[in-house]
Amino acid sequence: MTQASLQGVPTDWKTVLGGELAKVWDTTTTTMYAIVDAEGSNAKNVGILEGIVKTNAVAGVEDPTVFFVVVRDGVLCGECKRLHMLEDGVTPRVWKLSEVGHGYHKKGEQFPKVGGLHPHCRCVLSTLLPGYGFNEGGFVTYSTRATPSLRRSEPQRPTALAKSTQARSSPCAVCTNPPSLNP
Ligand SMILES: [Zn+2]
Ligand SMILES: [Zn+2]
Repeated sequence: MTQASLQGVPTDWKTVLGGELAKVWDTTTTTMYAIVDAEGSNAKNVGILEGIVKTNAVAGVEDPTVFFVVVRDGVLCGECKRLHMLEDGVTPRVWKLSEVGHGYHKKGEQFPKVGGLHPHCRCVLSTLLPGYGFNEGGFVTYSTRATPSLRRSEPQRPTALAKSTQARSSPCAVCTNPPSLNP
């Protein structure tokens, strides 16, 4: 304060209090944003969870197989990578819904949480119905040979069906070799 008045900075109560309040407001806004964001993710995934439970119940599955869809970009954190992807960095890691916890996650915990792993977590809960697995690109694909218990440790090898799906989704011949405009 003395330093401030020596430097000619206003030290009247309005200016000082105003400055302090601005700091408090800034911290509060940041904290509130993190809380609202975390609660938003939680609400979103809890809503999805309800759908997952119902869909699996119709398919006769009591404990659904679930996984989290991550955003594969440069800011995806190590914790989301560790709990939501296999070591290949491509195949989603699957869990039994009964293993997925609720509430706030602590870094290093063994199991993921429905509501995300940290504030601003963008991972979205999804399910793998019986007969579905992942192809080598990490995409969900139908395969009658898929067994969720196997997929946990060893990523499923692409089946003929998965390959044919992949072939269909690859760019068509016309797009890759556009006809020349000047023959
Ligand atoms: Zn993360
Ligand atoms: Zn995440």
